[in-house]
Formats: sequence, C-alpha cells, structure tokens
Amino acid sequence: MLKRLSSAIRTPFVISILAFVSGVMVVSSVSYFGALTEHDTYLKSVKEVQTQKVFDAQVALDQLALLSFQSMIFNNDVIGIMAKAAQGSSSEQDLARKQLYSQLYAKYQLLKKHRVRQLHFHLPDAVSFLRFHRPDKFGDSLLSVRESLRLVNEQKYALKGFEEGRVYNGFRHVYPLFYFGQFVGSVEISYGFDAISHLIGHSKPAKELFFVNRQSALSSVFEAERAQYHVSDLGHNWLLDETGMGTLDKKNSLIDETIKRINANLSDTFLDKLSAQGTCTGCTLSTQLKTKYYTVSFVPIFNFKDRQVAFIALYEQDTVLPLIYQNVFNQFILMVLFTLLLSIGLYFYLKNHLMKVEEIEHLASHDLLTGLYNRVEIEKRLPILLAKRAKAEGSVSVIFFDVDHFKHFNDEYGHLIGDEVLKDLAHVVEGMLDDNSLFTRWGGEEFLIVLPNTNQTEATHLAIALCHAVNQHAFTQKKLSVTCSFGVLEQTDEYSPNRVLDAVDILLYQAKEQGRNRVVSKTLSVPCNAN
Ligand code: GH3
Ligand code: MG
Ligand code: MG
Repeated sequence: MLKRLSSAIRTPFVISILAFVSGVMVVSSVSYFGALTEHDTYLKSVKEVQTQKVFDAQVALDQLALLSFQSMIFNNDVIGIMAKAAQGSSSEQDLARKQLYSQLYAKYQLLKKHRVRQLHFHLPDAVSFLRFHRPDKFGDSLLSVRESLRLVNEQKYALKGFEEGRVYNGFRHVYPLFYFGQFVGSVEISYGFDAISHLIGHSKPAKELFFVNRQSALSSVFEAERAQYHVSDLGHNWLLDETGMGTLDKKNSLIDETIKRINANLSDTFLDKLSAQGTCTGCTLSTQLKTKYYTVSFVPIFNFKDRQVAFIALYEQDTVLPLIYQNVFNQFILMVLFTLLLSIGLYFYLKNHLMKVEEIEHLASHDLLTGLYNRVEIEKRLPILLAKRAKAEGSVSVIFFDVDHFKHFNDEYGHLIGDEVLKDLAHVVEGMLDDNSLFTRWGGEEFLIVLPNTNQTEATHLAIALCHAVNQHAFTQKKLSVTCSFGVLEQTDEYSPNRVLDAVDILLYQAKEQGRNRVVSKTLSVPCNAN
C-alpha cells in the first residue's frame, strides 16, 4: 500500500514538472514573438518620426527658396539681364554674366549663410550661364544630366526635388524666367544635405548622414568633383556625401567611431533589406553597442525620374528599446512564476485527488472495522487462486472461522466491546499469518483465510494454532475470553471453486455442532482446550 501511495505521489510530481516545462516553453515563445512585435511596432513609429523630421526640414527649405526667388530674382532688373543674355552674342553674354554676378553677389553670400549651395542661372536651351559657386564654369549643356531643366524648359513651370549634378547633388528648386511674357531661361536655387541636417535638432545623441547611389552620382558628376564622395561602409553601392557637413556645428552629435560600429553591426541587415525590397523604401533598424541601443532610420530620396538615388540615414541613441526589452523580460518572469504557481497547484490537486482515489479503492476492498480485506475483494481474488491450483501450481486451503456465542457476548458486554473484540481478534490472527495468506472479514463475526501453497495438514495445524491463540488471548482492556470454531478444507478436484466455501461452511457448522471452540477438517475434529 505504501508503495502504491508513493507512486501515486510521484505521478503528480512528474505531471506537474511536465506541465511546468511545457508552460515555460509556451511562455517563452509567447514572450519571444511578443517582443518581436513590440520591437517592430516601435521601430515603425521611429521611422514615422524620423521621416517626418526630414519632410519638415524640406518644407522649411522650400519656403526659403521660394522667398529668395521672389525677393531677389523675380524683378525686371535681374530678369532683364537674362533677357539680354538669352538673345545676345557671346561677348554680350559675358557682359550680362558680369552684371548678374555683381548684382546678386552680396545676396548670394547671404543665401549661403542659410546654406543655399547653388544659385545657378541657365539660358533657355539649358546651357549653364552662371554658377555662383563656380562663376568661371559655364557654357556646358545640362540637358542630358538635368531632368529638372528639361522639364522646366518643356513645361515652363517651377519644379522642386532632388537631383544629382555636375558639381554637387542637391535639393533643387528650378524656376522658369519670363521677361514680358517671353521665356528667357531659368534659375536654380538648391541646397545640399547639410541644410536639411542643419534643421534637424538632436534631443538625444544623434547624427544624420547622406548616402547617394554610386552609379547615378558618378554618372553626372565632373571627374574633378568625385573626391567629395566616399564609399560607405554600409555597402559599396552607396557613397557617403559629406559636402558641407564639416561646417555644421551640431550639439549632441554621435562620434564617427560610434557610427562606424553601428554600420558594422547593421551592414548585413541593411543589404538584406535592400535586396528584399529592391530599394530601401524606408526602414528603421536597431542595434546594441555595449549597454547602449541605437536606431538608424533610412529615409529614401527620389530624383525627378522617380528613382531612389539617395537616402538620409538618421542615427539616434535610443532610450525606449531597453525599456521594451526590460518590460518583456519582466512579463516573461511574471508568466514563468504564474506557470510555476499553476504547476504547484496542479501538483497538490493531483496528489489530493489520487490519494482520495486510493482511499476510495481501499474502502471498497477493505473492512472498515478491522482493516482486513472485505468479502467483495476476496470474491474477486479467490477464483483466481483456485484456478491456479487447478493448473497444478500448488495446493490452496481455506480456513473459515466464527466467534462462538457472540450474540450473548454482545448482549452481556455491549456492541462497542464486541467491536473491540473483533478488532483484537483480527490483529491476533493476522500476526500469525504469512504475507501470502489472504485474511478476510467475511461478514459479522465470521472470517475466512485463504492459504496459497498450503495443504490440508498444514492448514489444520495453522487452524489449531489459531484456535489456541484465541483461547489464550485476553481480549480488550477488560481481559475477556473469547473462543472461535474453525472449519478447514484443502481444495481438491472434488470441489469446484464455487463449492469450496459451501464445503468449508459445513465443516464450521460441524465444529459448532460438536461443541464449539474446535477445529474440524474432513478427517479431524480437534477441541482447542484438549491439551
Ligand atoms: P454461534 O456460536 O452459533 O456463532 O453463536 P452466535 O451468537 O455468534 O451466532 P449468531 O449468528 O446468532 O450471532 C452473530 C452475532 O454477531 C449477532 C451480532 O450481534 C454479532 N455481530 C455481527 N457483526 C457484528 C459487529 O460488527 N459488531 C458486533 N459487536 N457484533 C456483531
Ligand atoms: Mg458466531
Ligand atoms: Mg456467525
């Protein structure tokens, strides 16, 4: 019984451990995918914010360009010079160029302070007329390299957008020029990336970098101007354009070494994103350097042909990601603790439940008063034992005994003392039986012992010994005497398993008839007080 009980306790333990392990596995995957989703959602929101910053800066520069055009160029003096140049000879053009240069030089210096990089006048056929940033470089046709100029010449509308250039690439604003209704050329006011970066403030350590597509940048730039581009450590297809950045003095800037380490961490992911999407149409990546987290948002820049030819990378130290990770970790720990509590609860529930099942099973097969097997149990087991004997696997004997005059006993001492006697009796007899014997309270004050591997003679000796032991025992605290009568029978082929109990009952009856306190077998009838 103890063995069964301990295995019953062990099973709930194993089940609870298994439940805990599977719970932790589920909790881990839920936490992992939860963390991924939170991480992705957060990076998307960073992307939105950073894209908006670039957009806002561009809007501010658009306003500045328009205001500059309207206040400086959109007047008859300036456009009159362009009208002369548009129709004039080469020497007249030289003169007009000088006039224009001296007329606008001071204002161009002012524009430069606002980070305007180029003020560039073109003749109606898109030939460069005057570059304020390279006044000696003119006369070259821009038609093949400047989609913006082609469009303005064709449509006669002002246009704005990013475009690669002969000297600089830039965010260009191109305005057509009309002199009394006649198209006399165009002017471009453009900014470099430094103007955008200048307008983006840093609330935490950050930096913006500008990457242009190697192929499209190098195909339009003058050979001599290529030095301003450096191959990016994010991938050799992208060139880092740092023109004008040296003049920026920004607070809270991330140092180059940090940027380099971030790029080293992210270049593979970045290239993966590029190849997955064809172009990086806006994405934010994150990485960790020691204890600090960083995000890099790539904001794509498209040219007039609607090709993505550049992107602005906004690097920023991040303070939210560690909180997200910490939060996910805390939730994970809480869920593991919860799973642990559930598993402990399950363990106690199962243990309790199984013990109850044990208890019920015990009650169903045992007698409540004496703790011996009950009749139900023995009726289950006896046929099996007897069938074994039939297969010649050893003899089986039965002893059936009954307390003498127990009715009188009860009448004299009361039922409670009677109960004590029955318990005592069971104890005395059980102490004299070996482990193989099945001892049963058959009902009332009648008991049955089934003895496997025991023949008639051995069983009779045992019955006589029991009879004597009962005789000599002082029952209950009152030291009362009790006697019993015994019938003993070895099952032989003479008795079918169904008939054995009837036959031994008859022998017990004979013992009663012959004066009680005696053992009767088929061959013997022995009184217990004979010696
Ligand atoms: P006999 O020697 O012929 O067996 O006489 P008897 O009085 O023992 O036989 P009988 O079958 O007439 O009476 C059996 C008695 O056993 C009657 C009943 O009160 C008593 N008895 C049966 N079960 C219990 C029990 O659980 N507790 C107590 N105290 N007495 C019981
Ligand atoms: Mg009796
Ligand atoms: Mg009886």
